[in-house]
Amino acid sequence: MSALPPFAAPPGSFLEAAAKAGLEFEPSDLERIGRWLGLLEAANRRMNLTRITDPESAWHRHVLDSLSLLPILHSITCTSLLDLGSGGGAPGLPLAITCPGVAVGLVDSVGKKARFLEACASELALHNVRVLNGRAEDLAADGAPERAAWDVVCARAVGRLPVLLELSVPFLVEGGLLLAIKGAQASVEIEESRAALHALHARVIDTIATPTGTIVVVEKARKTPRKYPRKAGEPARNPLAG
Ligand code: SAH
Repeated sequence: MSALPPFAAPPGSFLEAAAKAGLEFEPSDLERIGRWLGLLEAANRRMNLTRITDPESAWHRHVLDSLSLLPILHSITCTSLLDLGSGGGAPGLPLAITCPGVAVGLVDSVGKKARFLEACASELALHNVRVLNGRAEDLAADGAPERAAWDVVCARAVGRLPVLLELSVPFLVEGGLLLAIKGAQASVEIEESRAALHALHARVIDTIATPTGTIVVVEKARKTPRKYPRKAGEPARNPLAG
């Protein structure tokens, strides 16, 4: 009998932390998440997707961090979720696995990352996943089909909050939420975001401490002015401030 691949089963420390955080999922979800981690590890040998390579850290840093959004998603009506700058698939793929009734979009501007995400969705038979290969600035531009089309946008490690706000808020329906996975610097980033929040008609409605970080919850109050997002590269080069 061959040994199970090292990512297949979650370590006990993951199960304990997940139970403590009140996270609920099916055993078959964990099996599919383990297969995703295996695909991520294999692809990471060919391209730079993650610096986390040992299984225990991967379950904590990728899976627990991603699933920390579940309680919020379960507390609202969310039929569509966009993971902006999905890279290797966190947090979008674990959420697509655990929320099969939600239409999940995975955005990445890098073609080979988008192809990796496509391969994961097909290998794991995730019929609720659609991969969008492009820059947020173009996909959410005035008149583009994805603009104002998503209930929730989530993102991890895609720039500081003022930049992320300009890239993400235009995708949201009015009243939609951005769930930004942040670290210890969350409150500093919120302070830096006053001008961006004002310009984009959005407001921070909550910050939630999780076992792995801080989730900043932003609500889009009204329609985004047509001039945002500015052209590709501009939000990061010259963040909304002042
Ligand atoms: N969310 C993943 C990856 C973070 S790295 C994780 O936490 O592991 C940031 C990713 O965002 C990269 O894959 C990069 O290609 C993508 N990205 C950065 N700016 C982008 C933009 N403007 N539009 C679309 N994708 C972008």
